[in-house]
Amino acid sequence: MKKILADYSFEEIEDIVEKLGEKRFRAKQIFEGVYQGKEICEMTNLPKSLVSRLEEKYVSCGVEIVKSLVSERDGTRKYIFRLIDGNVIEGVFMKYRYGNTICVSTQVGCRMNCSFCASGLDGLIRDLTAGEILSQILKVNRDAAEDTDKRSVTNIVLMGSGEPFDNYDNVTKFLRLVSDERGINISKRNISLSTSGLADKIYRFADEGYGVTLTISLHAPNNGIRNKIMPVNKAFKIEELVKAAKYYFDKTGRRIIFEYSMIEGVNDSRACALELVKLVRGLTCHINIINLNYVKERNLRSSSKDNVKEFMDILSSEGVSCTLRRSMGGDIEGACGQLRRRYISEGADGRKG
Ligand code: SAH
Repeated sequence: MKKILADYSFEEIEDIVEKLGEKRFRAKQIFEGVYQGKEICEMTNLPKSLVSRLEEKYVSCGVEIVKSLVSERDGTRKYIFRLIDGNVIEGVFMKYRYGNTICVSTQVGCRMNCSFCASGLDGLIRDLTAGEILSQILKVNRDAAEDTDKRSVTNIVLMGSGEPFDNYDNVTKFLRLVSDERGINISKRNISLSTSGLADKIYRFADEGYGVTLTISLHAPNNGIRNKIMPVNKAFKIEELVKAAKYYFDKTGRRIIFEYSMIEGVNDSRACALELVKLVRGLTCHINIINLNYVKERNLRSSSKDNVKEFMDILSSEGVSCTLRRSMGGDIEGACGQLRRRYISEGADGRKG
């Protein structure tokens, strides 16, 4: 199988160029080409001989857009990408007032098996490499350029399929690549990483100084409920998780974001709201309330509008900062691994898609 140029740092590309007996300045041209989302054959500033030698062993990006859906309503774009080995993943591009955000996947499938999520239904298939995570951004940057001025992607959230901390080395290499000023240079201020709660990795991530916004999928105010809906809670109890979150804040000064999806009859009572207030008291954080997306294999429902409002009113009146996450691209549906599943089940040739 061919290697992916987007997997390599600038210095590693310099080594590749040198081994091919080429001048080092070619590395800069190749690196720039990769970060513009170009295929090797489109790097027209390289000599033809170098293009063909590179093409023998490498591809530029590790993903190809095989399907995209654009929302008429808000310009949200959903993508299906194919990897070199034929696996498929999904990503979403959303336009906000403050910038354009891409949500990328970090694994094919997921091993966390949260009871409400579509991504974990088939377990973990494999980790993505750093270059495969990066390539989703490089391809979308180019694809979405037609209706955005200048650079399309300004913000990144690692919130697609997969658990980023279950693929720690590739995800952190990705963070180094994407913030390289010779490439697309996206600042850590504009990057969020979402974890289901691998507390040990939160400490490591804090100590290694990546400094991105940490989002924690909490979804419950206590161990009893969290054990039922998120198996990861058996490894790291909720108190340990909140302690790790506090460590992350102390170390980085970045406010912690908790995700809380409202599941009817499971985590949405008044008592849950009050328990949640107690749990996060004293921590500099914000709670993102989310209406659960219906996943047919999971058979859980979102709480009613009134219930969500009441829950949020309790948090607010107790001084806990919270907002309801705006739902984007409602007309093109398919969130959290659902688009990928539909694509696979309907046949990857897109006949019905
Ligand atoms: N594994 C990481 C990131 C991927 S999931 C994590 O757990 O944080 C991104 C977010 O979507 C998580 O907060 C996840 O719990 C949430 N999510 C998954 N399925 C959902 C659904 N059906 N409805 C609403 N949110 C969901």
